[in-house]
Amino acid sequence: MASDIHPITKRHVAVIGAGASGLVAARELRREGHTVVVFERGEQVGGVWVYTPEVESDPLGLDPHREVVHSSLYQSLRTNLPREVMGFRDYPFVVKEDDEDRDPRRFPGHREVLKYLQDFAREFGINKLVRLETEVIYVGMVEGGKWKVKSRRRYGESVEEEYFDAVVVCVGHYWQPLIAQIPGIDVWPGKQIHSHNYRLSHPFRDKVVVLIGCSTSANDIGREVAGVAKEVHLACRSIGHETLGQQPGYDNIWRHPMIESVHNDGTVLFQDGSIVLAEFIMHCTGYKYYFPFLDTNGIVSTHDNRVGPLYKHVFPPELAPWLSFVGLVYKAAPFPVFELQSKWIASTLCNRVELPSREEMMKDVRTFYSSLEASGKPSRQTHNILEYQFEYIGWLVDQCGAPPHEEWREQMCVAYFKNLSARPNSYRDEWEDEDLVLQAHQDFLKRLK
Ligand code: FAD
Repeated sequence: MASDIHPITKRHVAVIGAGASGLVAARELRREGHTVVVFERGEQVGGVWVYTPEVESDPLGLDPHREVVHSSLYQSLRTNLPREVMGFRDYPFVVKEDDEDRDPRRFPGHREVLKYLQDFAREFGINKLVRLETEVIYVGMVEGGKWKVKSRRRYGESVEEEYFDAVVVCVGHYWQPLIAQIPGIDVWPGKQIHSHNYRLSHPFRDKVVVLIGCSTSANDIGREVAGVAKEVHLACRSIGHETLGQQPGYDNIWRHPMIESVHNDGTVLFQDGSIVLAEFIMHCTGYKYYFPFLDTNGIVSTHDNRVGPLYKHVFPPELAPWLSFVGLVYKAAPFPVFELQSKWIASTLCNRVELPSREEMMKDVRTFYSSLEASGKPSRQTHNILEYQFEYIGWLVDQCGAPPHEEWREQMCVAYFKNLSARPNSYRDEWEDEDLVLQAHQDFLKRLK
């Protein structure tokens, strides 16, 4: 794929965001010789893994004037992936023996992930590329093919304007809450919150709480809240009838289909006709893709939570390779995917790897959208790669000539899903894939030598 038409070129690149995706994008861009500025509006690198007890002024996260709290982590959060598959491919997420203040568990607490990302930034010299407390407020293309980036320092009035050859958007997608539309909610007298603003269970002590959603967060938070609440009711859009009703192992958790309506006497009616009198509704209903700073003259849109059109979830064909996105996909181990997407972008920007023509990329996007439609998937599922994550990874590996994914990774993911469904309450502490853990560590040792 190396281009012999265009000479290898170094670019000046803006990376927006210093979470896992921005840090690895910066590293890959620099490895290819590009100059990089990373803009980060937070006080430290790590993105969503920078836990804060602070919450937003609007517990639903809808007020456009609220001060955004980026992180969606609650205090007790442990990873939902084993650390072996979670880490970057060439920087294993292993226990640091020389630091006693680490969490050695296979599914560690959030602080361990932040430390890992901070180690990564330090070891690869990324910190010096990052401008902390600097928010990007505008990105747009100007004549001559350059990108104008306007940024503002926290507490500062003045806006800085700079020009770059390319922009890589790495702002994450777990900070702009999506909430469920519920008939009657305007007259319902209870309190509402989005899981984005959940930190601790104590406000729910002795309360009757309805949680909407069936993701990992809904299940984890539901179990935690059940430790203090009187009753917890989970409302799910897509679950089998066999899992409805009182949940095994808990005398105060029930699962229902979606909410039909809520009423001014405080009751919540579910689609199966069951009714509860509740004091809280928590929306564990996910997030929106949101790029308020991005001006592409309508070329890229986020309609119905599809960022598009994008070639392979990364490049808008019309603006490629000058604008790209890392980290939009979900339902796959994120860090290794971010790493490969970043390698692809970095090598494309220096002409080492060539993209197909715009027409070919657009054709690919159209085919992809048609296939989603044919299989009945709504456009908000566009970036869900669960069913083809290894195919996607293999494709990225081929594009940038990276070493292939190790076999144990795929096997470990299969074992993980099996364990998750067999032990939904204890999968973080009990497993049966010790042989794969051993293989992973043998592999890591080779890399760390
Ligand atoms: P983020 O980590 O969100 O980083 C984006 C950065 O961009 C932030 O630092 C933000 O301040 C900055 N930014 C945003 N807008 C601007 C702007 N305009 N100007 C400047 N800077 C800006 N993944 C796993 O692998 N394992 C897990 O167990 C796991 N658990 C999760 C649990 C929860 C509750 C959530 C919400 C996510 C979880 N994830 C997990 C997914 C996690 O989001 C990814 O692992 C990954 O950390 C996302 O990295 P990112 O860099 O794409 O985004």
